[in-house]
Amino acid sequence: LSGLMQTTPLLISGILRFASRAHADREIVSRLVDEPVWRYDYAGWGRRSAQAAHMLAALGVRAGDRVSSLGWNTHRHFELFYAVPGMGAVLHTANPRLPDDQIAYTINHAESGVLFFERNFLPLVERLKPLLPTVRHFVMLSDAERLDSGTLGAASYEVLIADRATDYDWPQLDENSASFLCYTSGTTGDPKGVLYSHRSVVLHAMAGGLTGAFGFSAFDCVMPCSSLYHATAWGLPFVAPINGCKLVLPCDKMDGASLDELIQAEGVTFSGGVPTIWTMYLAHLERTGGNTGALETLVIGGSAVPRAMAESFQQRYGVKVRQLWGMTETSPIGVVSTPTPKLAAEGEDAMDEVIWTRQGRIQFGIELRIVDEEGNDLPHDGEASGALLVRGPWTVQRYFRADKDAADADGWFDTGDIATIDSYGFMRITDRKKDVIKSGGEWISSIDLENIAVACPGVRIAAVVGVYHPKWEERPLLAIEPHEGETVTEAAVLAFLEPRIVKWWMPDAVVITQVPLTATGKIDKKVLRDRYRDHLAD
Ligand code: ADP
Repeated sequence: LSGLMQTTPLLISGILRFASRAHADREIVSRLVDEPVWRYDYAGWGRRSAQAAHMLAALGVRAGDRVSSLGWNTHRHFELFYAVPGMGAVLHTANPRLPDDQIAYTINHAESGVLFFERNFLPLVERLKPLLPTVRHFVMLSDAERLDSGTLGAASYEVLIADRATDYDWPQLDENSASFLCYTSGTTGDPKGVLYSHRSVVLHAMAGGLTGAFGFSAFDCVMPCSSLYHATAWGLPFVAPINGCKLVLPCDKMDGASLDELIQAEGVTFSGGVPTIWTMYLAHLERTGGNTGALETLVIGGSAVPRAMAESFQQRYGVKVRQLWGMTETSPIGVVSTPTPKLAAEGEDAMDEVIWTRQGRIQFGIELRIVDEEGNDLPHDGEASGALLVRGPWTVQRYFRADKDAADADGWFDTGDIATIDSYGFMRITDRKKDVIKSGGEWISSIDLENIAVACPGVRIAAVVGVYHPKWEERPLLAIEPHEGETVTEAAVLAFLEPRIVKWWMPDAVVITQVPLTATGKIDKKVLRDRYRDHLAD
């Protein structure tokens, strides 16, 4: 028996139509590469997104076509987030931090006809152009005065949208049609394309505002510091308009001083990003003796949150830290660590401990399982650790152009992470499958070791990899990058670790070095493993 309710498709244009009316005068502020700060509201954004959709149609973009962007967190990129999928095309948010050949690979794999790019990517796009046979139009996200077409013959975004109609008859698409194409960073093999649908983006955006995730209200002022090109900045460009939040876009200026300025001047209450950014912000606050203004909550994720960071924010500045775990394949919100009454009953310290050290709590819309090597379910006791599988309406089914599914017949997708789940429903990542260290048959968690080592005075980044050892097969090697201008010695690090970890976890070597990072700002363990492969060999 069918229900008799409406089957209105869940569309990204629906968010725009809603927010530009219901939250018409709520402000949007954007820093730009080298233009003055831009200010408008959701009504103005709705009008300009409509103009951008007309521009796309005029450029010959049709439903189902792919369009690529090399964009920062700016208002023009935010307009493309709605104009492109709104008119039925697919936005491929290319990751400018990838090596040239991989950026070209993703744009070619997407077969994009148009490439939008920020002004400071001109040299990059000039280099890429000969590698991009499908791109017909190059459009610089720039006003007319500052346009520099270079050797590309690029057009200016502002010129192309000017004088177009400020309303658009957004088509009633199938909610399962494609909307965004985001590639994983391809640390193993070529980048893989995850093709979000309208339905997956809208459901993910509705869930993102709930108290089990970001917990937004119309009073929030949200500044996404994860990149718009990295899994749509955690969906914040959708979650914020749905909830009527003021939106602050920091462009590419994510250093401590720039963030501090925006947080203070715009009254930012909520921000989110990878730990590296918050390390820089904390260091800036400490240097200047500054404060966090109206900031209430920081969601930190993408890699494990060092406990010391959560503690500093909460105890010194009164800012709540929530950890988020997710991946491009999960749109990306998987879990966020938010309190529960049962946990609160155990007292504040116990609660903080769980909130800070777990990746997050199971929420509606994404199911989690942990399994052993034979695929048997493991108990949720906070002890047993196994492969983490996920499933739900915003989890990948199949990569773009792949000939078989990435998820199994029941929809379970193997994340490649190793995790525990406790009786409160909190999940803790202990490692990535490819990073786990197996010493004499026993697992050592590189993440746990890093979390402890990063609290050692003077340490900016701590990275642990397993390297070949003649007796134990693999032993942990700890690479340390000190804060600028500080010295850290191997002896000091070992002395710091000694009372804090079990003896057999003690790294066999500590190297002081610049730690290599991936295109998504995570520690590049592959490079480290290659570099120190034979370090313990004899
Ligand atoms: P990439 O692998 O390209 O960087 P993703 O951003 O999709 O792309 O990375 C997802 C992975 O990042 C997860 O599978 C997990 O290993 C790691 N990760 C994300 N959030 C956290 C977190 N809070 N703690 C530990 N690891 C995390």
